[in-house]
Amino acid sequence: MTSAARVRGRFAPSPTGALHLGNARTALLAWASARAQGGGFVLRVEDLDPPRTVASAVTGNLDELRWLGLDWDEGPDVGGPVGPYRQSERDGHYAAALAALATAGRLGEDWLSRKDLQGAASAPHAAAGSVYGPRERARSARLAADRRTEGRAPSWRARFEPGTVVADDVRLGRRAFDVAADVGDLVVRRSDGLWAYALAVVVDDAAMGITEVVRGDDLWDATGAQVALAAALGHPAPRYGHVPLLLAADGQRMAKRRGASTLDAYRADGVDPRRVVGALAATAGLIAEPRPLHPRELVSGFDLARLAPAPGRWSEALEGWVRAA
Ligand code: GLU
Repeated sequence: MTSAARVRGRFAPSPTGALHLGNARTALLAWASARAQGGGFVLRVEDLDPPRTVASAVTGNLDELRWLGLDWDEGPDVGGPVGPYRQSERDGHYAAALAALATAGRLGEDWLSRKDLQGAASAPHAAAGSVYGPRERARSARLAADRRTEGRAPSWRARFEPGTVVADDVRLGRRAFDVAADVGDLVVRRSDGLWAYALAVVVDDAAMGITEVVRGDDLWDATGAQVALAAALGHPAPRYGHVPLLLAADGQRMAKRRGASTLDAYRADGVDPRRVVGALAATAGLIAEPRPLHPRELVSGFDLARLAPAPGRWSEALEGWVRAA
């Protein structure tokens, strides 16, 4: 394998609190996939949204992942050639991408408020979903002068060439997205000046040479927009590996706000991290029964394509096993 073809994977937590078991499972799978291919692994902190960022989580999330047994070659704490590795420090990259879209004639103002758009989505003629298209552009243009006078600021949207973009996922296969019907004009900068997640993730994955994006399959539907944006910016799309989520014992999606078990709570309680890893591996169908494991023991022969297709399910029994001394 030439060095140019070397796999580079990443994990990109949003530091909105301590990582929960679902975050940990995705990180573990992303790491194991990159390492099994002899690849590099990058840790990027997605602290784009100051009000949602919890300062202690920025370094806390790194400590939690290290406690679990993961490592990375580049990241905010260890540095690396394509840093900085915190999105809050990468403004210049996002501004350059915005300028490139503007130069290419692919950037438009959007004066519609969230309320305007919600109203549109619930109107009887509205198509399913909330794709921003010619109708919204026209409404925005009609409102522009008034809203500018009121001192409001627009958001900015990328406008893509109509056609089809294709995303390749190692587990879910190839999916074609119709740009006009499935993507529409994509917010790249919010009216409050914050960079949109889609812009940052596409710009950073390209600038950091990421070749493999492993993340929760709740982001699969949003992938078309990211591939369209990468194409508009002249970047190759990475190969994707969307993995099933981990559901809590009650069948609900794991969420910090619903009190999902966090790695820092296990650590504080003196839990053996190898038990957490073993239990997570069992929920992914990587081993039949949980047993204490270091992440390293998952690497040999690891293949994303062989993960159980159904969502993982946490349980009282697993929780008890993890906490058994
Ligand atoms: N920061 C995003 C999240 O935590 C990651 C999205 C991605 O992996 O592309 O959901």
